[in-house]
Amino acid sequence: MPIKICSYTFEEYLERVQSFHGFAAPGVIIGGFMVDLAYQHLPPEGLFDAICETERCLPDAIQLLTPCTIGNGWLRVFNVGRFALALYEKQQGEGIRVSLNAAKLDDWPEIKSWFFNLKPKEAQDSQLLSEQIKEAGANICHYQRIRIDLRSLKERRNARFAICPRCKEAYPIADGEICLACRGEIPYLIPLSDWKKANSSV
Ligand code: ZN
Repeated sequence: MPIKICSYTFEEYLERVQSFHGFAAPGVIIGGFMVDLAYQHLPPEGLFDAICETERCLPDAIQLLTPCTIGNGWLRVFNVGRFALALYEKQQGEGIRVSLNAAKLDDWPEIKSWFFNLKPKEAQDSQLLSEQIKEAGANICHYQRIRIDLRSLKERRNARFAICPRCKEAYPIADGEICLACRGEIPYLIPLSDWKKANSSV
């Protein structure tokens, strides 16, 4: 039986990853198996939202295989740095979390060395890596039932906004007196307020 990732064959999925993500990144391919595993344990009917625990690769697998995108708000990224995702039913918050089972990676040395960055990128055998990913499939993944705190998610979504006194742009009030960008949490070299001043004086 050919390997399937949701409704796609493995090769079709690879092509979709290439066109959406720019290249066939190992993390997005493994992510495909992870989303597929989650769907296998969810009821066939139902509307599911997604949570992703890393910014790395996985959000693209979710966006390719589910109706959830960051933009439509059905995919939320909580960047705690774990290679894991969850799909859950929107109304009740019950769902499935899928993570990479690090203990099982000993059987797949090339995947292990990629995942833990054990050798420099040039030294990676990308052919062997993709073969191992294809062969391992969801066997390197672990799933568990979870329940989401829907109320706290909703509070975040309904954040109220104010005008930041420094940059004069709208930002969530809960962030404090000035916006996070003006507090330096974005790597622009010139503070945006000065940049605006410079532009408007031209
Ligand atoms: Zn500001």
